[in-house]
Amino acid sequence: MTYRIALIKGDGIGPEVTKAAVAVLDKTAKLFDHSFIYKEALAGGCAIDAVGEPLPAESVRVCKSCDAVLLGAVGGPKWDNLPGRLRPEKAILGLRSELGLFANLRPAALQKALKAFSPLRKDIADKGIDLIFVRELTGGIYFGERGRTDETTAFDTESYSVTEIERIGRKAFGLAVKRRKSVVSVDKANVLESSRLWRETMHRIAKEYPQVLYSDMLVDNAAMQLVTNPSQFDVIVTSNLFGDILSDEAAAVTGSIGLIPSASLGEGTFGLYEPIHGSAPDIAGQGKANPLAAILSAAMLLRYSLSLAEEAAHIESAVEKALLSGARTGDMAQSGAAAPLSTAQMTDAVLSFI
Ligand code: NAD
Repeated sequence: MTYRIALIKGDGIGPEVTKAAVAVLDKTAKLFDHSFIYKEALAGGCAIDAVGEPLPAESVRVCKSCDAVLLGAVGGPKWDNLPGRLRPEKAILGLRSELGLFANLRPAALQKALKAFSPLRKDIADKGIDLIFVRELTGGIYFGERGRTDETTAFDTESYSVTEIERIGRKAFGLAVKRRKSVVSVDKANVLESSRLWRETMHRIAKEYPQVLYSDMLVDNAAMQLVTNPSQFDVIVTSNLFGDILSDEAAAVTGSIGLIPSASLGEGTFGLYEPIHGSAPDIAGQGKANPLAAILSAAMLLRYSLSLAEEAAHIESAVEKALLSGARTGDMAQSGAAAPLSTAQMTDAVLSFI
């Protein structure tokens, strides 16, 4: 089959890591007899340089004409002093709203080969971590009414509608059905009215999925459980604010930032896939970037937008085999280890297992 992928290389290490992901996608396509057509689109600092705005309308059009979007990273010091509407991050926010992406999926899995990198105690890390956050992305306190009542008082508002909670809930339960069939919904229902509505609504959605084991957890307890007993979690669904904080905590317990992919999904199968790291201007252009988060983002793209689960698993297994064979980029290298691999060498290590 032929699939169309919008490719936003972006800034800094973005072009380096997306090149790696495309090489892995292309070899996988050959193996499984598919064809991927890439449509390049500009966004972020490079778009500001080329056409004077972070998210040109043409880029949105290209994304909408494709089955999914693969993005490297945007931003960098060159554009840091521009006025707000011209900042590269506007491209990410603009893409989310233009493409209707309301669910952010962030897996946190502790690769067998990398247990030593986890800051967790060995007996906890040994039980394994394989969880995924489903974070609501377009509502809550980041989008609620805000302001200053006078010079000494400021406010932000957390607000959720039943419709917003239902759609993120269904995404989470739908995902759990394809995984280990367990959902934990994280809220602060003992204090916040918006969390009480969140909890009531999740309970109602849970009844639609009797095959899924469901429970609620207060956010303070969830923060603790993520470091004391993370192996209990499969799918965690939560609000924009709680998801932002807890998914970074989960990333930290699984090791390097250069390893974690993400997906932003809307209704249907369309999605935008990107590593959780930024454009890493400190190492850009030096061939040092770890390409694994971008490669694993491409695997998520195959699984969630193109329904190519076998192909996605093949890429994930190639990454795991490369790591088990000892392949390490600089961000993962331990003191006393052999010289770290370059971006291209790590890509070759993964390709050798495809
Ligand atoms: P960053 O993730 O770019 O870098 C943080 C640290 O991690 C740096 O030391 C960097 O070298 C290292 N690092 C990141 N990715 C790596 C990789 N793949 N391999 C090896 N090392 C890696 O975060 P930052 O420095 O806070 O931000 C830099 C720029 O990226 C900023 O302009 C920021 O706005 C932007 N940013 C963009 C996105 C996005 O495009 N979605 C996300 C976060 C940050």
